[in-house]
Formats: sequence, C-alpha cells, structure tokens
Amino acid sequence: MRYAAQKGTKDILPQDIYRWHKAERTFADVCHSYGYEEIRIPTFEQTDLFQRGVGDTTDVVQKEMYTFDDKGGRSVTLRPEGTAGVCRSFIENGMTSLPSPVRMFYNITAFRYENVQKGRMREFHQFGLEAFGSEGPEIDAEIISLLTVFFEKMGVKHTKLCINSIGCPTCRAQYNAILKDYFRPHMDELCDDCKARFDKNPLRMIDCKVEGCKKYAADAPRLIDYLCEDCNNHFETLKKELENLGIEYTIDPGIVRGLDYYTRTVFEFVSENVGTQGTICGGGRYDGLIESLGGSKVPGIGFAMGAERFLMECEAQEIAFDKPDHVKVYFADLCPEAKPVISKACLDLRKAGIGCERDLTGRSFKAQMKYANKAGIPYLIVIGEDEISNGKVNVKNMADGSSEEILINGITDYFGNK
Ligand SMILES: [Zn+2]
Ligand SMILES: [Zn+2]
Repeated sequence: MRYAAQKGTKDILPQDIYRWHKAERTFADVCHSYGYEEIRIPTFEQTDLFQRGVGDTTDVVQKEMYTFDDKGGRSVTLRPEGTAGVCRSFIENGMTSLPSPVRMFYNITAFRYENVQKGRMREFHQFGLEAFGSEGPEIDAEIISLLTVFFEKMGVKHTKLCINSIGCPTCRAQYNAILKDYFRPHMDELCDDCKARFDKNPLRMIDCKVEGCKKYAADAPRLIDYLCEDCNNHFETLKKELENLGIEYTIDPGIVRGLDYYTRTVFEFVSENVGTQGTICGGGRYDGLIESLGGSKVPGIGFAMGAERFLMECEAQEIAFDKPDHVKVYFADLCPEAKPVISKACLDLRKAGIGCERDLTGRSFKAQMKYANKAGIPYLIVIGEDEISNGKVNVKNMADGSSEEILINGITDYFGNK
C-alpha cells in the first residue's frame, strides 16, 4: 500500500514553511496595527449556515461544498470560506454589544471541490478579515489601505485596485428590473445558470463566465449608473478617501462578486505582473448578512485572499524570503565522554532561546562535520578530551573560517551576546 496526498491537497514541507511564516506574520502584524485581533473558527459548521451566508445561488454552495452527514445524522460542511463562520461567531458570542467596530482577522484552511486540472486546490488557505458595526465608507478605505500596506511590507508590486458599488436593496431592486428588461429578449441564448439567476439574482448574470452570455453581459446596463442617493454619496466619499490616502484605483462596474450578501463597496486587487495576471484578493461590504443569519441589523465589511495565490505571486515577482537560522551552533563530539558535556551545554543554550544541534544518531566525527556543513549551521564547536580537561572550546565561524577560544562555562553567554 502506498498512500498519497488526496487530489487537490498538498503538504507544505518544513523546507518551505518559512515563506508561509513570513506572509502569515506580516499579515498578522499589519492587521494588529489597524486594531484587528485574530479569531479562530471551527473547520466545519452546519450546512445551512453556508447556504444562507454564502448564498444558495452561488457556485460555491451549488457545486463545490464538502457536505456530509455526521454519525449523528446532522448535515455538516467543511468551511468553503471564512466569513459565514466569523459572522456566526459574532452573533453567537454576543459581539453586537461590544464597542463598534468589532474587528477580527483570520488565517484559515478552506475546502472547495474545485477543478484540480486548472491548478486549483481543494484544501487551500485564506487570509482575511471582517469588521462589524461601521457603515463606512471610511472603514472601507481603511481596509483597502491595510492591503496596500501588507503588499508593500511583503514587497509585492504591480497590483491594481478595482472598486465598484453594487448598491443597497433599494437601488438594486430598481436596477434588477432594468437588467431583466435588458436580458429578457435574449433568454433563449443564455446558459441554464443564467436562466436560474434571472429570477433569483439577476446581478450575477453579469459575471457569467460562459462565452455566449459574456457578450450580452458586456453591454448590460451598469448598476453604478443607477445607485440611489445614499449609495452614490457612500461611493463618492470612498473615492475621496482613497485619493486622500494616495491610493490609486480603477472603477470596474464588472465586479459584482460571486456571493449574494455583498452590498455597496466591492473591490479586488488584481495582479498586472506578466504571467500571473488575475485577482489576488477580493472583498466588500455585506450590510445585510448578519441580519439574514439571525442577528441584529449590523453592517459589515471584509475581504479574503488566497494564500497559495498570494505566495505564487511573490514567487513570480522574485521576492526574497530570508530563511531564518533557527539553529545557530552545532556541537561535534570526538569521544564518548564529550556527549554528556554537549547535552548539558545544549540544554543551557536552549533555555536561553538559542538554537543548537548535536549528533543523535551515532555518526562518526567525520559524518558529524559533513552533516553540520550540509545543514548550513553558522557556528561549530568540537568537544574532545582536550576541551574537557582544559574547560575551553573553539567556536568556529563557518562563514569565514575564523575561530575564537572561550570557556565551556561561557558558551551560553557568548551566544546570548551575539
Ligand atoms: Zn442604494
Ligand atoms: Zn450564463
């Protein structure tokens, strides 16, 4: 029997993890600087939460969810995204009574039954955040600026911000009628999904990916031209605030987002890097979501970013990730008597937070040296009979070959001051 990772899943190996740590820590640091704290939500929820929260006309809910009955006969689903779970937690934990805005970020795995042929993962990672209790648009601009700071700190360039407003239920009801009048004469030529969307959620007909629908979608009336006065003011203020922050944007009336609960501000960061064009991150406002999940009327906004997609972008842009030296010093032993001296020295170093290694597999002295070299450990200390009787060792700097004699008792102090 030979086991293999499941289709659409992947190991992140120890030699690659530093890239993930760098992105995760940078994201957390930037979120903290904006007043966000991390939330950790469960991996699975009751299926109905996603049907309501993500929207049962979306591809995610209709085609891509990992849904199953547990042994108690309950229908549960592995989270296909983070927002619904965070909203459930917000309501369940009474966070409505906390001072607004309530700000939370997350770093999660999510699960979708994706087309693996297209390079998509079925278990993937997302960085994201949600902010509740502020109608914006200042917070909308602040969240967008948070992403620009994150990209800057990671060294990612060539990103383009696209924004749009998809209005509120008032202006959308009026617009939906206009949109239906537009699509009605072409119904026979549209795909089955669009035929279903026509009644349930006509806005989504605009981002249909089917070729035959695209040509009609391109010339469809634009919601942005039919915003009510409040929504229009909201969008104008957002634009002004982005200009105030020096953040360039493009208005893209084609961004409607695949999820039903979005209102007003929607945005995407897309890459204009040659070879990796496409959406890196998307988000928007969802003023109706908390209420539709059984909470009170609380506005919200958030975004999510695929971590795999983001790291692929970093790689394409040849961003340098420093690999940290977790192990600073290697101890090689020349005789059996050196082993207990080395294990005691290692314990002292580790208590002081200094990483070290010694032989644990009975290697010869020569093989120990070879191992230390190959592992790229920056300092080497050899201990044999002479070192034990003198109480002194040589610390060898592997980079320049220089060495320094110090007391065995002084090893921890020596590395502590480095
Ligand atoms: Zn409106
Ligand atoms: Zn279609």
